[in-house]
Amino acid sequence: MECDALLRKKYNIHTSGNNVPSPLSDFKELMTSYQCEPYILRNLAKLGFKEPTPIQRQAIPVLLSGRECFACAPTGSGKTLAFICPMLIKLKCSSADGIRAVILCPTRELAAQTTRECKKLAKGKKFYVRLMTSELKTADFSKLRCDILISTPRRLQFSIRRKRLDLSRVEYLVLDESDKLFELSLMKQIDSVVKACSNPSIIRSLFSATLPDRVEELARTIMHDAVRVIIGRKNS
Ligand code: ADP
Ligand code: MG
Repeated sequence: MECDALLRKKYNIHTSGNNVPSPLSDFKELMTSYQCEPYILRNLAKLGFKEPTPIQRQAIPVLLSGRECFACAPTGSGKTLAFICPMLIKLKCSSADGIRAVILCPTRELAAQTTRECKKLAKGKKFYVRLMTSELKTADFSKLRCDILISTPRRLQFSIRRKRLDLSRVEYLVLDESDKLFELSLMKQIDSVVKACSNPSIIRSLFSATLPDRVEELARTIMHDAVRVIIGRKNS
């Protein structure tokens, strides 16, 4: 559409892929077009977020449309919300069926920070958002309510190996800071997580500040019909 092109130009959004969904013109569109519940808009307002950042404008509708996504946008540009917001909208509410979303972060510090952000946006809705800690690593997840699990690849692999958790119902898998995940040589661990998330209708996404060739390669091997979103210039 003409206005899609204008919005993308205005916010320096570059996309590739089939039928890329329209970018958001504002957060209200989440309610009018995507059945977003009011609690999310309330939380966005409380956080002082008046309008979506460029990566949020494009990545949120891509994920809400059920498309896989690999996205590259500078550090500090709001990538966390770009994957948490569609995740909460799509999960709708907590369920007793086990883990439905997994977010992989390269370090414990980032995992903890992402957990805090997720809880802020989920406030007012009874989701079970859990950070994989050293205590949880050995816990039996079948006895724990958990909708969204946030972890480093190492800790998650530890639990998978010990058969402590079932990831076969995971509907959303996010690899955050995927360039760092590579730098830290976490590929084997990521591989085991990707395998354990065996639900055929899973939506995977990959977020990064730079898009080195091996990250693009990974995206192309694990994703199907993905939309690529780049804000500004690749690797800038
Ligand atoms: P990135 O992962 O791209 O490095 P973050 O997701 O950590 O960036 O976000 C950077 C900062 O911007 C955070 O403090 C976050 O709360 C804030 N932020 C996110 N989205 C918005 C928005 N729409 N409006 C204003 N600030 C935002
Ligand atoms: Mg980030």
